[in-house]
Amino acid sequence: EKKNISEQEKIQNKNLSEPAVFVPVDRSPEIQEARLKLPVLAEEQVIMEAVRENPCVVICGETGSGKTTQVPQFLYEAGYACGSGIIGITEPRRVAAVSMSHRVAKEMNLSTRVVSYQIRYEGNVTSDTKIKFMTDGVLLKEIQKDFLLQRYSVIIIDEAHERSVYTDILIGLLSRIVPLRNKKGMPMKLLVMSATLRVEDFTDNTKLFRIPPPVIKVDARQFPVTIHFNKRTPLEDYTGEVFQKTCKIHRMLPPGGILVFLTGQAEVHNLCRRLRKAFPFRKSNTTTGEDEEADTSEAMRKFKKAKQKKTVSLPRIDLDNYSALPVDEGDEDREAGIGDEEDEGSDLEIGDDPVNAEEKADPSIPLYVLPLYSLLAPEQQAKVFRPPPPGTRLCVVATNVAETSLTIPGIKYVVDCGRVKKRFYDRVTGVSSFKVTWTSQASANQRAGRAGRTEPGHCYRLYSSAVFGDFSLFSEAEITRRPVEDLVLQMKDLNIDKVVNFPFPTSPSAEALVASEQLLVSLGALKEPPRTGRVKEMERARLSCPITPLGRAMASFPVAPRYAKMLALGKQQDCLPYVIAVVAAMTVREIFEDLDRPAGSEDENSKLTQRRARLTQMRRLWAGQGASLLLGDLMVMLGAVGACEFAGCTPKFCEENGLRYKAMVEIRRLRGQLTNAVNAVCPEVGAFVNPKMSPPTEHQVVCLRQIVLAGLGDHLARRAQAEDILDPKWKNGYKTPLMDEPVFIHPTSALFKALPEFVVYQEIMETTKMYMKGVSAVEAEWVPELLHQYCHFGSPLESPSPWFCSSTGTVRCHRSSTFFRIGWQLPAVEK
Ligand code: ADP
Ligand code: MG
Repeated sequence: EKKNISEQEKIQNKNLSEPAVFVPVDRSPEIQEARLKLPVLAEEQVIMEAVRENPCVVICGETGSGKTTQVPQFLYEAGYACGSGIIGITEPRRVAAVSMSHRVAKEMNLSTRVVSYQIRYEGNVTSDTKIKFMTDGVLLKEIQKDFLLQRYSVIIIDEAHERSVYTDILIGLLSRIVPLRNKKGMPMKLLVMSATLRVEDFTDNTKLFRIPPPVIKVDARQFPVTIHFNKRTPLEDYTGEVFQKTCKIHRMLPPGGILVFLTGQAEVHNLCRRLRKAFPFRKSNTTTGEDEEADTSEAMRKFKKAKQKKTVSLPRIDLDNYSALPVDEGDEDREAGIGDEEDEGSDLEIGDDPVNAEEKADPSIPLYVLPLYSLLAPEQQAKVFRPPPPGTRLCVVATNVAETSLTIPGIKYVVDCGRVKKRFYDRVTGVSSFKVTWTSQASANQRAGRAGRTEPGHCYRLYSSAVFGDFSLFSEAEITRRPVEDLVLQMKDLNIDKVVNFPFPTSPSAEALVASEQLLVSLGALKEPPRTGRVKEMERARLSCPITPLGRAMASFPVAPRYAKMLALGKQQDCLPYVIAVVAAMTVREIFEDLDRPAGSEDENSKLTQRRARLTQMRRLWAGQGASLLLGDLMVMLGAVGACEFAGCTPKFCEENGLRYKAMVEIRRLRGQLTNAVNAVCPEVGAFVNPKMSPPTEHQVVCLRQIVLAGLGDHLARRAQAEDILDPKWKNGYKTPLMDEPVFIHPTSALFKALPEFVVYQEIMETTKMYMKGVSAVEAEWVPELLHQYCHFGSPLESPSPWFCSSTGTVRCHRSSTFFRIGWQLPAVEK
């Protein structure tokens, strides 16, 4: 019987196949010649036949075999974009979406009006667009607006091997959308492309596809790559080792490009600088951008002097007064920071490296050194594809963007540090940390493969073969190592109530799903499940809570649910511009230069200590005194955003004030985007961004603290009480409901000295200690009111006795309460 069904389905699918049309493309002879060398060209017929006969097809092929640039062209030529539908391709990284759309437009000799891209903040899609490259987050957002994706005739999910969260979810959703479209007589095709052969999670997963999709393997013409392992594995200064090795290759080995893999933007820049110094090539062109005059104190003074609004009403936010008028319009694109992980952490460079004797080596052939990482400006990125200036050797210093997303021509030598920077997250406590860890064997082999694209090459692994043997075989899917509350909210907004049953290629853990559902219920985004009834039913209800109107509004804001809640409440007391600024600053990670980073030499160390002291001092000044100080680090963020705008947001201002220029630019864009999002949900608020805002009034500061508490309620911490301090490890420590260990206010925080009794924090980062980041003080009496969902209320107190409120007509009585399971006593409230 089962076989019959699949036979029927097959016949049905065959009938849906597209008529054979051929849309001619006018390529230049050079392009045509280069194309013919790509292995994927040999498989064009096989691929197109499989696409015609199957709703879903998987293509596996080595990086550089031509999948991303050629497969969209095959489909275009076969007429998949000549009807009403267009061809959509998703990439996990913004870099790839932008650069591949340009490349394909050029190869096809078509304008970027026809071959376009869309990423979180920008795009060039027009009504003429036929091939659209986008990030996976953009497509996910489109599914929320039109579940059937009627604009598309084909969706290609590229880089599926990266297993980014949104890519995984898209495959899950598309496994349902494609049959639905075919049933409705609007045929649609799905192509999943991977650089590795490990695709069983997609193909052998009956939850996903009833008929396993065919897998087409593209044989890449790969030249042999000789692997050289180090005898020993440097544990500490691997970047020093990378530098030495690169210098040695350049001095001793025959011509051929060098590609170096490091873990993050800061490392990339450091190595570029050292290499440029050692082998100068013209004047190094690192700094671009307007270097305007900017005066710190002046800008801050202007921000502080800006006229404040007058507010008279008592500051108390109303939890029931939120923006929630979901509309279908609004052009916000959510996009995870996926693939940007390597850019976390500080990237601001201060001072100069000490010059080693080694670095003064006699320059022989100039080395043409280029950085490559995902947030690099597109013009800079494009340089790696052009041939290096004559008489020089190309050396690209990259993060793992160069592993599979981008193929750099002419690489003969690869230097692999063997490491990767990843964010780790503790599901129970919510503590996150960035760790540089060993990469997987699969990644290391991908990296090595980059050396054998055009001729036999060499890969230098700066670790021993024994260490390599201990690497995990593959990297885990991202979904298993990050919080999923934002995904759960997005799915609920798609009316997928039983998220546990969703066909994830790899399912997040059950405890992560339960925790997300609970958080969303406590934020008011999901309906509270019944508290009585049969245990089993209650259990089921707990995992299938439907979305509330507030939840829909929150889902339309392109930020994490906790921040979305703040935005929803933000219109009260004219606080919206401030809430938007604070949320933007919290969403864009690491707006402040990392003052904890390790310094190299002693000289650098003392410079860093001085800078740390100066910047900490300045952050305290920005937080101000009295009422505004209590908003703490969020006031510092607000001050930073405000002052930076008054200074014209220049790189110079940011450098002087320990702000990351790129983060500030992104905050500016995000403020605009969030304002549009709030306006779409709640037009009567009529929010607009005045980049140069005035500082909040004292009333507004109180209100802001309450809004922050309402959003970050599960991140409440209380200063350790006298009895705890008996143990010295608790000195100046804070207690949190879920951890036994103390957490601390960071020495660079505005509230480091104030030590308020109750604080909320943005997140806990584990470095030398558990440190709370983004700390604000809150008042104990707000907790039972604004976080009643976390409190247990006692019976009404005898004294004072209940009283009648004439304005509301209700009887009010005082109740004592405690917080969470931890049982913190809170002031009595009227309830
Ligand atoms: P895959 O997706 O299979 O990894 P691609 O389609 O990205 O392969 O790349 C195919 C070829 O096109 C590679 O040789 C690559 O160097 C080349 N290529 C890609 N983008 C550019 C570009 N912007 N300029 C020049 N060559 C490019
Ligand atoms: Mg590709």
